[in-house]
Amino acid sequence: MSRVMIIGAGGVGAVVTHKCAQLPEVFSEIILASRTEAKCKAIAAQLSRPIRTARVDADNVAELTELLQSERPALVINVALPYQDLSIMDACLAAGVHYLDTANYEPLDTAKFEYRWQWEYQDRFVKAGLTALLGSGFDPGATNIFTAYLAKHYFDEITELDIVDVNGGDHGYPFATNFNPEINIREVTADCRHWEGGEFVTTPAMSKKARFDCPDGVGSYDIYRMYHEELESLSKHFPSLRRAQFWMSFSDNYLKHLEVLGNVGMTGIEPVQYQGQQIVPIQFLASLLPDPSTLGPRTKGKTCIGCIVRGHKDGKDKVMYLYNIADHQECYREVQSQAISYTTGVPAMIGAKMILEGHWCEPGVWNVEQRDPDPFMADMNRYGLPWKVVELDPAFRLDVVQGQE
Ligand code: NDP
Repeated sequence: MSRVMIIGAGGVGAVVTHKCAQLPEVFSEIILASRTEAKCKAIAAQLSRPIRTARVDADNVAELTELLQSERPALVINVALPYQDLSIMDACLAAGVHYLDTANYEPLDTAKFEYRWQWEYQDRFVKAGLTALLGSGFDPGATNIFTAYLAKHYFDEITELDIVDVNGGDHGYPFATNFNPEINIREVTADCRHWEGGEFVTTPAMSKKARFDCPDGVGSYDIYRMYHEELESLSKHFPSLRRAQFWMSFSDNYLKHLEVLGNVGMTGIEPVQYQGQQIVPIQFLASLLPDPSTLGPRTKGKTCIGCIVRGHKDGKDKVMYLYNIADHQECYREVQSQAISYTTGVPAMIGAKMILEGHWCEPGVWNVEQRDPDPFMADMNRYGLPWKVVELDPAFRLDVVQGQE
């Protein structure tokens, strides 16, 4: 029985709040705090049990510390934006509150996702006797745990990892992003980096493409290799990995829009002068695009996200694939959100449950793959993200159609 504070009332925040509200035996009291309290109240109105709401600017450590000291939650679930990670961690330390997030810190003025800033908090969280759980969404999050689960139960050593994130959903707009547009566009326009032979190798964005046949009738999709933040922590925590790559599906239409927007400077993160005022092009663009939290009713189709892991067991080569399939409309029926927010919000709720129930409560700063995957995997089946594991032919290779194998 614990009081929890959720920070961020966007697409993911709405799902986390719904899922926590479904488990009063774990989350006995919920406070939803965000920059715009009206959005918290709108989410609260969708629930069948009462929660409290608050307004907070999470960039302001003093203001957030004061709120935490007066509300005294056991844990903060940070589903605001990556820019707020460090200020929320500082406030948690000052107020003696456990911490969880779904995306690693990124400075506002540099499109650079790195864990190093948050890993530097290790000693402070240990000293305070507090747990900070990093990256408990789907990717990062479930994908890290899938890797840890496969390594634990199916292999003596893992050597190659391909994380494949397919969104076969269609929202009917010419161009929209499924989560925060600014974060999404910064992520997909960044140079690609993948782990190979003990180091990160940089290649141009979207320069390597493969064709992937999803299981269970989800369909066949073009997937592009890109950098994703879990590669940093997984290559550190599984040093036997010789290669680790992340792939995401994009439609030709999405890529064409992105190319044109990039060519005319609309995806830039540097401020420009416009009619006597400074604007950041990507922020202006984000303000014009559909709000991801409104895509739920119109998105149809399925997501299929999973990990293909190669390694050895008892001296033999082996390849395993562990995945979840989520249906956008089923997610919407349950929590009034599409599957991208759903697949992020459910693992955030489960990670919070792991801390509050003591399974994953250990002072320090942890990536999810450093914890025992078993109780988390059991809860994924229980709370809306069922998964399957299948063995592939050891000769299996992704069908690369552009860029070198
Ligand atoms: P949204 O933009 O929909 O929501 C973000 C929310 O945070 C908004 O309500 C916003 O307030 C609030 N917020 C922003 N700045 C502040 C601040 N300074 N103080 C308080 N509240 C603030 O984003 P999403 O819900 O799509 O994404 C939330 C997080 O989840 C992001 O960090 C994203 O990177 C991560 N994510 C992780 C995934 C994973 O699988 N690991 C997948 C998808 C997302 P306002 O309403 O006023 O704008």
